[in-house]
Amino acid sequence: MIFDALIIGGGVSGLQCALILGSAKDKSFFDHKKVGIIMHQKNSHLQNALFNNVLGLTPEKLGGEILTEGKEHLKELYSEIQQIENEKVIAIKQLNGTYEITTNKSTYLSKIVVLALNYSKPLTINGLEEYIIPHKKANIEKDRIQLLNQDHIIKKGLYCCGTIAGHRSQYAIAAGSGAAVATDILTLWNNNKHVKIHHKI
Ligand SMILES: Cc1cc2nc3c(=O)[nH]c(=O)nc-3n(C[C@H](O)[C@H](O)[C@H](O)COP(=O)(O)OP(=O)(O)OC[C@H]3O[C@@H](n4cnc5c(N)ncnc54)[C@H](O)[C@@H]3O)c2cc1C
Repeated sequence: MIFDALIIGGGVSGLQCALILGSAKDKSFFDHKKVGIIMHQKNSHLQNALFNNVLGLTPEKLGGEILTEGKEHLKELYSEIQQIENEKVIAIKQLNGTYEITTNKSTYLSKIVVLALNYSKPLTINGLEEYIIPHKKANIEKDRIQLLNQDHIIKKGLYCCGTIAGHRSQYAIAAGSGAAVATDILTLWNNNKHVKIHHKI
């Protein structure tokens, strides 16, 4: 099976990207697209975070709860998005029109890949070396990194979002960039006609 889009990383930007892609499941252009997320959460910056400044989150919300609840939310509402658990990506290789994603347990093919990692060193995924640069919006002494990209696109079919895309480390910014990438992908699938997914009461 070849994925149409595979998200790597189950933190803030990855989960938000997956939720918006999932919420387009009934659109005609979605057309049974195969979307997955490698739900690695062990290294998420949410693990030790406590939130008092995010709109919509109850004060003192724990990052660990968001990780668990986010996974459940995605499963309950958008079970079409395949959640791949307990795997860590070790390599990405561009083939003819697809990417080959190798984890510690398996290999996947996808037309589109979204890197939703974070800005911590080291980035140990083989195949990304040439795109790693110092983070442009973090203090230099913290030695953070990002991937070279333009509007979240590293190259055709390869996107990044969240702090690894060069955004500052704030929950709302990371989530927003995951959402931006999702709507860019949906727009592509909709023959470049702009897409947003809203639900009305
Ligand atoms: C202690 C702390 C407190 C914070 N408090 C606040 C706050 O009060 N307000 C606020 O706005 N922000 C806060 N933040 C920042 C916020 O948590 C981050 O900005 C946000 O988590 C960044 O999202 P992200 O998607 O870039 O990265 P993450 O949420 O870290 O997600 C990256 C994901 O990639 C996965 N991953 C990494 N390597 C691989 C691999 N090889 N294969 C597969 N998956 C991989 C990780 O496991 C992780 O799940 C805080 C952060 C910390 C650390």
